[in-house]
Amino acid sequence: MKSPVYFASLEGGTNQESMAAKVQRLFDRAELRACIHERDRTAIKLHFGELGNDSYINPVYVRQVVDKVKGAGALPFVTDTNTLYLGSRSNAVDHITTAILHGFAYAVVGAPVIIADGLCGKNVFRVRIEKKHFENVVIAGDINASDSMIVMSHFKAHEVAGFGGAIKNLGMGCAPPDGKRAQHKARPFSLRDRCIGCGKCVGVCPKSAITLVDEKSTIDTALCIGCFECMTVCPEHAIDINWEIEIAPFVERMVEYAYGAWCGKQGRIGFVNFLTRITPDCDCVPWSDTSIVPDIGILASTDPVAIDAASYDLVNQQPGCTGSRLTAHLRRGEDKFKGLRENTDGYLQVRYAEELGMGSSTYELIRI
Ligand code: SF4
Ligand code: SF4
Repeated sequence: MKSPVYFASLEGGTNQESMAAKVQRLFDRAELRACIHERDRTAIKLHFGELGNDSYINPVYVRQVVDKVKGAGALPFVTDTNTLYLGSRSNAVDHITTAILHGFAYAVVGAPVIIADGLCGKNVFRVRIEKKHFENVVIAGDINASDSMIVMSHFKAHEVAGFGGAIKNLGMGCAPPDGKRAQHKARPFSLRDRCIGCGKCVGVCPKSAITLVDEKSTIDTALCIGCFECMTVCPEHAIDINWEIEIAPFVERMVEYAYGAWCGKQGRIGFVNFLTRITPDCDCVPWSDTSIVPDIGILASTDPVAIDAASYDLVNQQPGCTGSRLTAHLRRGEDKFKGLRENTDGYLQVRYAEELGMGSSTYELIRI
């Protein structure tokens, strides 16, 4: 059966209604209200963006969802989990400060910020899933404690998963640092013949795992946490991982975590994907690069698989933006994520989530 995915376009000629109004109308048409009961403590799951990044979802649009949740008689809070790497979001104090600096203050979004895994990422809940990679997964305690959830995701490319959308926001995004560590088993290595010794990877590594030896990058795998930030910054593609052996299991682990966050709340989670500022990197990097395709629109659904499948297809139907980091697969219909990183397979997460019963990759796109 096809899952409905509601779509508010941002194409030229369709902009006679504000983005904020479109978010509200999407919420109603996709019947996200049905996920929420009166007096629910409703988590609005977001990514507040690493300090320096500015492609995260505009807090004004988050306010529209908060207002809808309040209108349903529930108690919304905006939330995310602490990061594995040392940055501006690795504990709740830094994380809330970053969120407020990025506009997620009560005065703007109309709801408090609560970091779902607590001050130091130790507020966790173990969920039994009995899947291929994990018997149990650890989910942030206040994600688990919430009664319902609206997952709002900025859809963009990702250096290893191919893209990040609703499934990744559930999987990596609802996991405390211990859960993120369990998913990130892959470790990069440097290709000495390609390395020019620029040191960019050294500067970005949150664990000081990289040193230059004879002006060549060298990674200490005992220190490395597998965050892949070094791969993102290397201008020479001189840092790699074993794609054939490591990437499919990484994506499957991430999807199993998504399943763990989703399975206790079936029918109580709504999803909103923003296909705007579709950057080549995730919002964990402290910058926002030029979009790889033009802005497309906003999607809403109760099916995380369908909304990511539809988002993936809509991006690939666009022409690539010249002047962006996308230099291959620029034509409409070509896979933009493979154009950026040929070894990734973004659709793998869609297929595996469908296999786990989280939804359907067959969808009906309904324009509002
Ligand atoms: S960023 Fe790339 S080229 Fe520069 S030192 Fe690191 S591995 Fe070498
Ligand atoms: S993946 Fe790269 S940046 Fe991240 S910890 Fe390992 S060596 Fe450092």
